[in-house]
Amino acid sequence: MVTKQALTSNGWEANVEIGIKDRRIAHIRPAPHGATPTVGLALAAPLNLHSHSFQRAMSGLTEARGPDPSDSFWTWRRLMYKFLDQLTPDQIQAIAAQVFLEMLEAGYSSVAEFHYLHHNAGGVPYANLAELSEQIVEAAKDVGIGLTLLPVLYQFGGLDKRPLAGGQRRFGNDPMQFARLHEGAAKAVATGPEDFNIGVAPHSLRAVDTLGLSDALSLAGNGPVHMHLAEQVAEVEEVQAALNARPTEWLLSNYDVDPRWCLIHCTQMTPLETQALAATGAVAGLCPITEANLGDGIFNGTHYLGHGGNIGFGSDSTVHISLFEELKSLEYSQRLRDKSRAALAKADRSTGRVLFEAAARGGAQAGGRDSGTLAVGKLADILAVDLDNEWGVNRSGDMALDTLIFGGNGQRCISDVWSAGRHVVKEGRHIERERITKKFTATMAELEQNI
Ligand code: ZN
Repeated sequence: MVTKQALTSNGWEANVEIGIKDRRIAHIRPAPHGATPTVGLALAAPLNLHSHSFQRAMSGLTEARGPDPSDSFWTWRRLMYKFLDQLTPDQIQAIAAQVFLEMLEAGYSSVAEFHYLHHNAGGVPYANLAELSEQIVEAAKDVGIGLTLLPVLYQFGGLDKRPLAGGQRRFGNDPMQFARLHEGAAKAVATGPEDFNIGVAPHSLRAVDTLGLSDALSLAGNGPVHMHLAEQVAEVEEVQAALNARPTEWLLSNYDVDPRWCLIHCTQMTPLETQALAATGAVAGLCPITEANLGDGIFNGTHYLGHGGNIGFGSDSTVHISLFEELKSLEYSQRLRDKSRAALAKADRSTGRVLFEAAARGGAQAGGRDSGTLAVGKLADILAVDLDNEWGVNRSGDMALDTLIFGGNGQRCISDVWSAGRHVVKEGRHIERERITKKFTATMAELEQNI
């Protein structure tokens, strides 16, 4: 492709040609004299580091006041458990395919699917233990998104080791059964293209014990390790009561957290914990749209980035999938809290540039994916934006990124997305949108909404 502008590992470059070969970037060089640009602006398409794809089917179902007068996160969670009890493997694949399509259209190249829905209703394992992992892999193959599959170990309903109940039973495994499930999931991942990989996800400190956590880590090899951490005040209190330490404090003093780790949310950390987590090199996996939707709290981005911490972004509940809006939401949460402006900007980089580069770099690190910047040899994860419109007119460099993120219509400017060289979004639409969305809407029509 020939692009008018590109944000490469060397910074902004004008009029360059980017060549793709065997899924990777083969060259980035000055465009031939007089060559007509095929795209307006090229960026490294980030990995979406946190997704529970099935929750997309619940988007819009949980905004009314529930029976619980405080209408808390836990009301939402009960509704989610009830809803998912009806989902079949076919439906789970159809929903995942739509979610992955929407991620590509939003500018993500790839996704780390935090996959905890393993068994049939009531917790009965399928004949093939990894049945639902296979459905996720098939959906990713069908849509052409890059996949980091994170099979989730979920043992208990809380720190008192109460057994899983109701809809939660579809998640449950003991460490031995989980090892077999993980093996099956790894086989499924191996049927995908070479940019598919596997990691492991001990669900949270509430849902695994130390034995389970250690067993899960032994399955990870060199792959990524993801875990929910310090999302809700009630969770912090429960961990504190049971383990005599706050979640982040406990994890950091008991495990060797390193750059392979991605801790999801971290909205409930003290300044000291924020600084200590930043120093590990792990990625804080932020999901600002979902965190706002669930009322989790505000991640301390200024403090964490100020101490050199790595961040990336995920769409988590997939209530609304928008890369640019995730970035904007984090920045606005800091401004609202601190009554400030340009909270995450640096002297040499605008807010949008800081956010976008952090998202691309941190996402790749969290997914163990060889991308995150436009450079020769990296996977060809590329997002192209058209600036020849009312938003992009007369915008370049950092200001173009700022306009895409804060101007509000960035997503509508996306023209093309390549995932490891697969050109899956053209003229702003996924190349198989009609077929995949038809199956999704048919699935949605089958599902009981009044739960
Ligand atoms: Zn999550």
